Amino acid sequence: MKLFKRKFPFPDAPNTMCFTCCHILNDNEPIAYISHDEDGCWQFLCGKNHTEDEARIVSLAEMLEIDKSAAKFADLKRGECAEKRDGSWVLRKKA
Ligand SMILES: [Zn+2]
Repeated sequence: MKLFKRKFPFPDAPNTMCFTCCHILNDNEPIAYISHDEDGCWQFLCGKNHTEDEARIVSLAEMLEIDKSAAKFADLKRGECAEKRDGSWVLRKKA
């Protein structure tokens, strides 16, 4: 795996598993939903509704390469998520 030249922005290891979707991975859709799950997993989704076969698993490092803006949410705590609504990010605790 390629090493980051700069300090890795997330507190987690670069190979931490995260979920994304085929829209972000294949269609270059922007991230519109970021979740840091209680179990430590991250989710970076486009904001559409998803079926299971649209889910993709990548590492945190790969996710950053796909969309550098993911780093903005590196300090999202477990159990929190951020959602893009009308162009601005809304942070909330997951129910
Ligand atoms: Zn999607």
